[in-house]
Amino acid sequence: MLFCMLNKQSEYFPLFLIALSSLSWLQCNPNDSTRDTDFNVFSPEISASDIHSHIKFLASDSLQGRESGTEFEAIAANYIIQAFEQYGVEAKGDDGTFLQAFTINVARSTNPHASDDTDGERRVANNIVGWIPGRSNTDYIIIGAHYDHLGYGSFGSLYRGNTPRIHNGADDNASGIAGLLELAHYFSKNPPEDNLLLLAFSGEEMGLLGSAHYVKEPTIDLAKAKAMINLDMIGRMSDENLLIFGIGTTPKWSKLAKAVNEDSLNLNLLEDGTGASDHTSFYYKKIPVLHYFTGTHSDYHRPSDDLAYIEEKGLELVVAHVAKMVDALGPLSKEELPFVETPRKQRQSMTLDGPTLGVLPDYGFEGVGMQIIGTNPGQPAQNAGLQSGDIILALGETQFEDIYGYMDALKTLVVGQKTTITIVRDGKKQTLDLQL
Ligand SMILES: [Zn+2]
Repeated sequence: MLFCMLNKQSEYFPLFLIALSSLSWLQCNPNDSTRDTDFNVFSPEISASDIHSHIKFLASDSLQGRESGTEFEAIAANYIIQAFEQYGVEAKGDDGTFLQAFTINVARSTNPHASDDTDGERRVANNIVGWIPGRSNTDYIIIGAHYDHLGYGSFGSLYRGNTPRIHNGADDNASGIAGLLELAHYFSKNPPEDNLLLLAFSGEEMGLLGSAHYVKEPTIDLAKAKAMINLDMIGRMSDENLLIFGIGTTPKWSKLAKAVNEDSLNLNLLEDGTGASDHTSFYYKKIPVLHYFTGTHSDYHRPSDDLAYIEEKGLELVVAHVAKMVDALGPLSKEELPFVETPRKQRQSMTLDGPTLGVLPDYGFEGVGMQIIGTNPGQPAQNAGLQSGDIILALGETQFEDIYGYMDALKTLVVGQKTTITIVRDGKKQTLDLQL
Protein backbone atom coordinates (compact mmCIF):
# COMPACT_ATOMS: atom_id res chain seq x y z
CA MET A 1 0.00 0.00 0.00
CA LEU A 2 2.72 2.37 0.95
CA PHE A 3 4.58 1.64 -2.22
CA CYS A 4 1.55 2.12 -4.40
CA MET A 5 0.70 5.34 -2.66
CA LEU A 6 4.10 6.89 -2.86
CA ASN A 7 4.41 6.08 -6.52
CA LYS A 8 1.14 7.70 -7.37
CA GLN A 9 1.73 10.71 -5.20
CA SER A 10 5.25 11.51 -6.11
CA GLU A 11 4.46 11.84 -9.80
CA TYR A 12 2.03 14.66 -9.24
CA PHE A 13 2.27 16.19 -5.82
CA PRO A 14 4.99 17.73 -3.76
CA LEU A 15 5.45 16.13 -0.38
CA PHE A 16 2.74 17.10 2.12
CA LEU A 17 0.25 18.28 -0.47
CA ILE A 18 -2.51 15.95 -1.28
CA ALA A 19 -5.06 17.96 -3.14
CA LEU A 20 -8.55 16.83 -4.05
CA SER A 21 -7.75 14.69 -6.99
CA SER A 22 -8.60 11.50 -8.73
CA LEU A 23 -5.11 10.41 -7.84
CA SER A 24 -5.49 10.87 -4.13
CA TRP A 25 -4.38 7.91 -2.03
CA LEU A 26 -7.91 6.64 -1.77
CA GLN A 27 -7.40 5.20 -5.19
CA CYS A 28 -4.93 2.75 -3.76
CA ASN A 29 -7.04 -0.14 -2.68
CA PRO A 30 -5.75 -1.40 0.65
CA ASN A 31 -6.61 -4.90 -0.51
CA ASP A 32 -3.88 -4.68 -3.16
CA SER A 33 -1.27 -3.92 -0.62
CA THR A 34 1.63 -6.06 0.24
CA ARG A 35 1.30 -7.13 3.83
CA ASP A 36 3.98 -5.25 5.68
CA THR A 37 2.99 -6.41 9.12
CA ASP A 38 1.70 -9.76 10.26
CA PHE A 39 -0.69 -8.66 12.98
CA ASN A 40 -1.64 -12.21 13.86
CA VAL A 41 1.73 -12.71 15.54
CA PHE A 42 0.44 -10.35 18.21
CA SER A 43 -1.29 -11.78 21.24
CA PRO A 44 -5.09 -11.50 21.27
CA GLU A 45 -4.72 -10.55 24.93
CA ILE A 46 -4.16 -6.89 25.72
CA SER A 47 -0.40 -6.74 26.12
CA ALA A 48 2.24 -4.12 26.83
CA SER A 49 4.58 -5.58 24.24
CA ASP A 50 2.01 -5.34 21.41
CA ILE A 51 1.22 -1.81 22.52
CA HIS A 52 4.93 -1.02 22.28
CA SER A 53 5.08 -2.38 18.70
CA HIS A 54 2.10 -0.31 17.54
CA ILE A 55 3.44 2.92 19.00
CA LYS A 56 6.92 2.19 17.69
CA PHE A 57 5.51 2.08 14.16
CA LEU A 58 3.04 4.96 14.41
CA ALA A 59 5.35 7.36 16.25
CA SER A 60 8.46 6.65 14.20
CA ASP A 61 10.15 9.49 12.31
CA SER A 62 9.25 7.83 9.00
CA LEU A 63 5.60 8.72 9.64
CA GLN A 64 6.65 12.37 9.95
CA GLY A 65 4.04 13.30 12.50
CA ARG A 66 0.93 11.93 10.71
CA GLU A 67 -0.46 15.31 9.66
CA SER A 68 -4.04 15.13 8.40
CA GLY A 69 -4.46 14.79 4.68
CA THR A 70 -0.84 13.92 3.98
CA GLU A 71 0.62 10.69 2.69
CA PHE A 72 2.05 10.07 6.16
CA GLU A 73 -1.39 10.03 7.65
CA ALA A 74 -2.23 7.52 4.91
CA ILE A 75 0.63 5.25 5.99
CA ALA A 76 -0.77 5.24 9.52
CA ALA A 77 -4.26 4.59 8.11
CA ASN A 78 -2.99 1.62 6.15
CA TYR A 79 -1.39 0.17 9.24
CA ILE A 80 -4.69 0.41 11.13
CA ILE A 81 -6.65 -1.02 8.21
CA GLN A 82 -4.27 -3.95 7.81
CA ALA A 83 -4.64 -4.74 11.49
CA PHE A 84 -8.44 -4.54 11.26
CA GLU A 85 -8.47 -6.82 8.21
CA GLN A 86 -6.22 -9.41 9.76
CA TYR A 87 -8.22 -9.41 13.00
CA GLY A 88 -11.42 -9.96 11.03
CA VAL A 89 -12.95 -6.56 11.79
CA GLU A 90 -15.68 -5.68 9.27
CA ALA A 91 -15.42 -2.56 7.10
CA LYS A 92 -18.17 0.02 7.71
CA GLY A 93 -16.83 3.08 5.90
CA ASP A 94 -17.73 4.40 2.45
CA ASP A 95 -18.72 1.88 -0.25
CA GLY A 96 -17.78 -1.20 1.72
CA THR A 97 -14.29 0.06 2.59
CA PHE A 98 -12.79 0.98 5.96
CA LEU A 99 -12.35 4.61 4.87
CA GLN A 100 -14.64 7.58 5.31
CA ALA A 101 -13.24 10.55 3.41
CA PHE A 102 -13.79 14.20 4.26
CA THR A 103 -12.33 17.45 3.05
CA ILE A 104 -10.22 19.79 5.13
CA ASN A 105 -10.03 23.48 4.33
CA VAL A 106 -6.54 23.99 5.70
CA ALA A 107 -6.75 27.79 5.94
CA ARG A 108 -9.89 27.56 8.01
CA SER A 109 -8.60 24.80 10.24
CA THR A 110 -5.47 26.64 11.19
CA ASN A 111 -7.16 30.06 11.38
CA PRO A 112 -10.78 30.03 12.57
CA HIS A 113 -11.28 33.54 11.21
CA ALA A 114 -10.62 32.54 7.61
CA SER A 115 -13.80 32.43 5.59
CA ASP A 116 -15.12 29.11 4.43
CA ASP A 117 -14.74 30.01 0.78
CA THR A 118 -11.09 30.90 1.15
CA ASP A 119 -9.27 29.70 -1.94
CA GLY A 120 -6.80 27.88 0.22
CA GLU A 121 -5.47 24.40 0.14
CA ARG A 122 -8.01 21.63 0.41
CA ARG A 123 -7.04 18.16 1.47
CA VAL A 124 -8.77 14.84 1.71
CA ALA A 125 -8.43 13.11 5.05
CA ASN A 126 -9.97 9.84 6.16
CA ASN A 127 -11.63 8.37 9.19
CA ILE A 128 -11.35 4.60 9.51
CA VAL A 129 -14.51 2.71 10.39
CA GLY A 130 -14.59 -0.89 11.63
CA TRP A 131 -17.22 -3.13 13.18
CA ILE A 132 -17.15 -6.19 15.41
CA PRO A 133 -20.52 -7.98 15.63
CA GLY A 134 -21.62 -8.62 19.20
CA ARG A 135 -23.09 -11.81 20.63
CA SER A 136 -26.62 -10.66 21.34
CA ASN A 137 -27.48 -6.98 21.35
CA THR A 138 -28.68 -4.85 18.47
CA ASP A 139 -27.24 -1.71 20.07
CA TYR A 140 -23.58 -0.85 19.81
CA ILE A 141 -20.73 0.80 21.67
CA ILE A 142 -18.34 3.20 19.94
CA ILE A 143 -14.64 3.09 20.74
CA GLY A 144 -12.69 5.93 19.12
CA ALA A 145 -9.18 7.36 18.97
CA HIS A 146 -7.57 9.89 16.64
CA TYR A 147 -4.56 8.85 14.61
CA ASP A 148 -3.50 12.19 13.12
CA HIS A 149 -0.95 14.48 14.76
CA LEU A 150 0.90 17.74 14.09
CA GLY A 151 3.35 16.78 11.33
CA TYR A 152 6.19 19.28 11.60
CA GLY A 153 4.19 21.46 13.95
CA SER A 154 3.07 24.15 11.51
CA PHE A 155 -0.10 24.46 13.65
CA GLY A 156 -0.92 23.61 17.24
CA SER A 157 2.67 23.13 18.36
CA LEU A 158 4.16 24.43 21.59
CA TYR A 159 7.69 23.97 20.24
CA ARG A 160 9.45 27.30 19.81
CA GLY A 161 12.60 26.36 17.92
CA ASN A 162 13.31 27.84 14.51
CA THR A 163 14.01 24.58 12.71
CA PRO A 164 10.84 22.61 12.03
CA ARG A 165 10.93 19.21 13.71
CA ILE A 166 8.84 16.09 13.47
CA HIS A 167 6.15 15.83 16.13
CA ASN A 168 5.90 12.08 16.63
CA GLY A 169 2.87 12.14 18.90
CA ALA A 170 3.61 8.89 20.73
CA ASP A 171 1.22 9.76 23.53
CA ASP A 172 -0.92 12.04 21.32
CA ASN A 173 -2.28 9.79 20.03
CA ALA A 174 -0.38 6.70 18.93
CA SER A 175 -1.19 5.56 22.49
CA GLY A 176 -4.94 5.71 21.87
CA ILE A 177 -4.62 3.93 18.52
CA ALA A 178 -2.51 1.21 20.14
CA GLY A 179 -5.37 0.81 22.63
CA LEU A 180 -7.94 0.71 19.83
CA LEU A 181 -5.96 -1.97 17.98
CA GLU A 182 -5.54 -4.06 21.12
CA LEU A 183 -9.29 -3.86 21.77
CA ALA A 184 -10.00 -4.76 18.13
CA HIS A 185 -7.81 -7.85 18.44
CA TYR A 186 -9.15 -8.87 21.83
CA PHE A 187 -12.84 -8.41 21.00
CA SER A 188 -12.56 -10.03 17.58
CA LYS A 189 -11.55 -13.21 19.48
CA ASN A 190 -13.85 -12.60 22.48
CA PRO A 191 -16.98 -10.92 21.06
CA PRO A 192 -18.82 -8.78 23.62
CA GLU A 193 -22.60 -8.76 23.98
CA ASP A 194 -22.85 -5.42 22.21
CA ASN A 195 -21.68 -4.70 18.70
CA LEU A 196 -18.58 -2.53 18.61
CA LEU A 197 -18.03 0.36 16.23
CA LEU A 198 -14.31 1.15 16.05
CA LEU A 199 -13.46 4.64 14.81
CA ALA A 200 -9.98 5.98 14.09
CA PHE A 201 -10.37 9.70 13.46
CA SER A 202 -8.31 12.08 11.39
CA GLY A 203 -8.40 15.89 11.60
CA GLU A 204 -8.56 15.90 15.40
CA GLU A 205 -5.61 18.22 15.84
CA MET A 206 -7.09 20.70 13.36
CA GLY A 207 -10.28 20.95 15.44
CA LEU A 208 -12.07 17.59 15.88
CA LEU A 209 -12.79 17.60 12.14
CA GLY A 210 -12.99 13.84 11.63
CA SER A 211 -15.36 13.16 14.50
CA ALA A 212 -17.47 16.20 13.57
CA HIS A 213 -17.73 14.79 10.05
CA TYR A 214 -18.58 11.32 11.32
CA VAL A 215 -21.49 12.47 13.50
CA LYS A 216 -22.81 14.50 10.57
CA GLU A 217 -22.64 11.50 8.27
CA PRO A 218 -22.66 8.40 10.46
CA THR A 219 -22.30 5.12 8.60
CA ILE A 220 -24.29 3.34 11.34
CA ASP A 221 -27.42 4.88 12.86
CA LEU A 222 -26.32 6.91 15.90
CA ALA A 223 -29.69 6.27 17.57
CA LYS A 224 -28.47 2.76 18.40
CA ALA A 225 -25.22 3.93 20.00
CA LYS A 226 -25.26 3.20 23.72
CA ALA A 227 -22.03 5.00 24.55
CA MET A 228 -18.86 6.42 23.06
CA ILE A 229 -15.47 5.78 24.65
CA ASN A 230 -12.62 8.00 23.47
CA LEU A 231 -8.97 7.08 23.97
CA ASP A 232 -6.82 10.19 23.61
CA MET A 233 -3.43 10.41 25.35
CA ILE A 234 -3.41 7.30 27.50
CA GLY A 235 0.30 6.55 27.40
CA ARG A 236 1.63 8.42 30.42
CA MET A 237 0.03 6.81 33.43
CA SER A 238 2.28 7.27 36.42
CA ASP A 239 1.35 6.21 39.95
CA GLU A 240 -1.65 4.46 38.38
CA ASN A 241 -3.53 7.77 38.15
CA LEU A 242 -6.17 7.50 35.46
CA LEU A 243 -8.46 10.38 34.51
CA ILE A 244 -11.83 9.59 33.02
CA PHE A 245 -13.90 12.51 31.73
CA GLY A 246 -17.59 12.31 30.87
CA ILE A 247 -18.61 10.52 34.06
CA GLY A 248 -21.57 12.89 34.41
CA THR A 249 -23.02 12.01 31.00
CA THR A 250 -25.02 9.05 32.33
CA PRO A 251 -25.78 8.21 35.99
CA LYS A 252 -24.30 4.70 35.95
CA TRP A 253 -20.82 5.63 34.69
CA SER A 254 -19.30 6.28 38.07
CA LYS A 255 -20.48 3.03 39.61
CA LEU A 256 -19.42 0.99 36.58
CA ALA A 257 -15.97 2.59 36.38
CA LYS A 258 -15.33 1.72 40.02
CA ALA A 259 -16.83 -1.77 39.78
CA VAL A 260 -14.48 -2.87 36.98
CA ASN A 261 -11.39 -1.34 38.60
CA GLU A 262 -9.83 -4.70 39.44
CA ASP A 263 -6.30 -3.36 39.04
CA SER A 264 -6.89 -0.77 41.78
CA LEU A 265 -6.06 2.22 39.61
CA ASN A 266 -6.43 5.64 41.23
CA LEU A 267 -9.48 6.76 39.30
CA ASN A 268 -9.96 10.48 38.89
CA LEU A 269 -13.56 10.65 37.68
CA LEU A 270 -14.55 13.96 36.10
CA GLU A 271 -18.10 14.90 35.20
CA ASP A 272 -17.54 16.98 32.09
CA GLY A 273 -18.48 15.39 28.77
CA THR A 274 -16.89 18.05 26.58
CA GLY A 275 -13.26 18.81 26.02
CA ALA A 276 -10.63 19.21 23.35
CA SER A 277 -11.04 15.75 21.90
CA ASP A 278 -13.39 13.71 19.74
CA HIS A 279 -15.84 12.51 22.39
CA THR A 280 -17.17 16.09 22.36
CA SER A 281 -18.69 15.52 18.90
CA PHE A 282 -20.69 12.56 20.28
CA TYR A 283 -21.64 14.39 23.48
CA TYR A 284 -23.44 16.96 21.33
CA LYS A 285 -25.37 14.09 19.72
CA LYS A 286 -26.58 13.24 23.24
CA ILE A 287 -24.62 10.01 23.54
CA PRO A 288 -23.05 9.20 26.92
CA VAL A 289 -19.28 9.59 26.53
CA LEU A 290 -16.09 8.73 28.35
CA HIS A 291 -12.66 10.12 27.65
CA TYR A 292 -9.78 8.05 29.03
CA PHE A 293 -6.75 10.25 29.65
CA THR A 294 -3.50 9.89 31.58
CA GLY A 295 -2.77 13.59 31.89
CA THR A 296 -0.86 16.35 30.19
CA HIS A 297 2.93 16.64 30.38
CA SER A 298 5.77 18.86 29.27
CA ASP A 299 6.18 16.96 25.97
CA TYR A 300 2.58 17.68 24.97
CA HIS A 301 2.46 19.02 21.38
CA ARG A 302 6.23 19.11 21.25
CA PRO A 303 8.71 17.05 19.19
CA SER A 304 9.69 15.22 22.37
CA ASP A 305 6.38 13.34 22.67
CA ASP A 306 8.22 10.08 21.95
CA LEU A 307 7.98 6.34 22.47
CA ALA A 308 10.72 6.45 25.12
CA TYR A 309 8.36 8.13 27.59
CA ILE A 310 5.40 5.81 27.08
CA GLU A 311 4.36 3.72 30.07
CA GLU A 312 3.43 0.53 28.21
CA LYS A 313 2.45 -1.44 31.29
CA GLY A 314 0.26 1.43 32.46
CA LEU A 315 -1.31 1.67 29.02
CA GLU A 316 -2.11 -2.03 29.15
CA LEU A 317 -3.97 -1.44 32.44
CA VAL A 318 -5.90 1.49 30.96
CA VAL A 319 -6.97 -0.58 27.96
CA ALA A 320 -7.90 -3.50 30.22
CA HIS A 321 -10.19 -1.13 32.14
CA VAL A 322 -11.85 -0.10 28.88
CA ALA A 323 -12.36 -3.75 27.90
CA LYS A 324 -14.04 -4.46 31.24
CA MET A 325 -16.26 -1.40 30.81
CA VAL A 326 -17.37 -2.71 27.42
CA ASP A 327 -18.26 -6.07 28.95
CA ALA A 328 -20.02 -4.40 31.88
CA LEU A 329 -22.20 -2.43 29.46
CA GLY A 330 -23.45 -5.63 27.81
CA PRO A 331 -26.32 -6.42 30.21
CA LEU A 332 -27.52 -2.79 30.26
CA SER A 333 -30.10 -1.55 27.78
CA LYS A 334 -29.79 1.82 26.09
CA GLU A 335 -32.69 3.02 28.26
CA GLU A 336 -30.65 2.26 31.36
CA LEU A 337 -27.96 4.61 30.11
CA PRO A 338 -29.82 7.90 29.60
CA PHE A 339 -27.77 10.83 28.39
CA VAL A 340 -27.32 13.66 30.88
CA GLU A 341 -25.91 17.06 29.98
CA THR A 342 -22.91 18.12 32.00
CA PRO A 343 -22.02 21.74 32.68
CA ARG A 344 -19.52 23.16 30.24
CA LYS A 345 -16.54 23.44 32.46
CA GLN A 346 -13.34 22.29 30.86
CA ARG A 347 -13.77 23.30 27.27
CA GLN A 348 -10.43 24.39 25.96
CA SER A 349 -9.57 27.50 24.04
CA MET A 350 -10.30 26.26 20.56
CA THR A 351 -13.96 25.63 21.25
CA LEU A 352 -14.68 28.84 23.15
CA ASP A 353 -16.66 31.62 21.53
CA GLY A 354 -15.23 34.48 23.61
CA PRO A 355 -11.63 35.48 24.20
CA THR A 356 -8.99 32.85 24.76
CA LEU A 357 -5.64 33.03 26.47
CA GLY A 358 -4.06 30.23 24.48
CA VAL A 359 -2.95 28.13 27.42
CA LEU A 360 -2.86 24.44 28.06
CA PRO A 361 -4.11 23.72 31.58
CA ASP A 362 -2.64 20.97 33.72
CA TYR A 363 -5.72 18.98 34.65
CA GLY A 364 -3.81 17.07 37.28
CA PHE A 365 -2.91 20.20 39.29
CA GLU A 366 -4.55 20.11 42.70
CA GLY A 367 -3.44 23.41 44.27
CA VAL A 368 -5.22 26.77 44.26
CA GLY A 369 -5.52 28.41 40.83
CA MET A 370 -4.91 26.95 37.39
CA GLN A 371 -1.47 25.71 36.49
CA ILE A 372 -0.49 25.75 32.83
CA ILE A 373 1.69 23.37 30.91
CA GLY A 374 2.28 25.64 27.97
CA THR A 375 1.13 28.55 25.86
CA ASN A 376 0.23 28.81 22.20
CA PRO A 377 2.50 30.99 20.09
CA GLY A 378 1.19 34.49 19.36
CA GLN A 379 -1.78 34.21 21.72
CA PRO A 380 -2.52 36.51 24.68
CA ALA A 381 -0.94 34.37 27.40
CA GLN A 382 2.34 34.06 25.57
CA ASN A 383 2.31 37.73 24.62
CA ALA A 384 1.86 38.57 28.31
CA GLY A 385 4.94 36.50 29.12
CA LEU A 386 3.34 33.44 30.68
CA GLN A 387 5.47 30.32 30.90
CA SER A 388 5.03 26.64 31.43
CA GLY A 389 4.50 25.95 35.14
CA ASP A 390 2.89 29.30 35.94
CA ILE A 391 -0.18 29.13 38.17
CA ILE A 392 -2.88 31.61 37.21
CA LEU A 393 -4.75 33.07 40.19
CA ALA A 394 -6.73 35.97 38.75
CA LEU A 395 -7.83 37.67 35.56
CA GLY A 396 -8.19 41.39 36.24
CA GLU A 397 -9.88 41.68 39.63
CA THR A 398 -11.49 38.26 39.42
CA GLN A 399 -9.71 35.65 41.51
CA PHE A 400 -10.43 31.96 41.19
CA GLU A 401 -9.65 28.65 42.82
CA ASP A 402 -9.51 26.26 39.89
CA ILE A 403 -10.01 25.73 36.17
CA TYR A 404 -13.78 26.12 36.49
CA GLY A 405 -13.40 29.52 38.11
CA TYR A 406 -10.91 30.45 35.41
CA MET A 407 -13.40 29.59 32.66
CA ASP A 408 -16.07 31.68 34.41
CA ALA A 409 -13.67 34.61 34.77
CA LEU A 410 -12.75 34.41 31.10
CA LYS A 411 -16.41 34.58 30.10
CA THR A 412 -16.73 38.03 31.66
CA LEU A 413 -14.04 39.43 29.33
CA VAL A 414 -14.19 40.38 25.66
CA VAL A 415 -11.79 40.02 22.76
CA GLY A 416 -9.46 43.03 22.54
CA GLN A 417 -9.87 44.04 26.19
CA LYS A 418 -6.83 45.14 28.19
CA THR A 419 -6.61 43.74 31.69
CA THR A 420 -4.11 42.05 33.99
CA ILE A 421 -3.27 38.48 34.89
CA THR A 422 -2.02 37.44 38.31
CA ILE A 423 0.19 34.40 38.51
CA VAL A 424 2.52 32.53 40.82
CA ARG A 425 5.90 31.67 39.35
CA ASP A 426 8.61 29.95 41.39
CA GLY A 427 6.59 30.64 44.54
CA LYS A 428 6.32 34.39 43.84
CA LYS A 429 3.12 36.21 43.03
CA GLN A 430 3.23 38.71 40.17
CA THR A 431 0.78 40.65 38.02
CA LEU A 432 1.32 41.07 34.29
CA ASP A 433 -0.45 43.15 31.65
CA LEU A 434 -2.75 41.13 29.45
CA GLN A 435 -4.23 42.08 26.09
CA LEU A 436 -6.98 39.73 24.97
ZN1 LIG B 1 -3.09 16.72 20.32
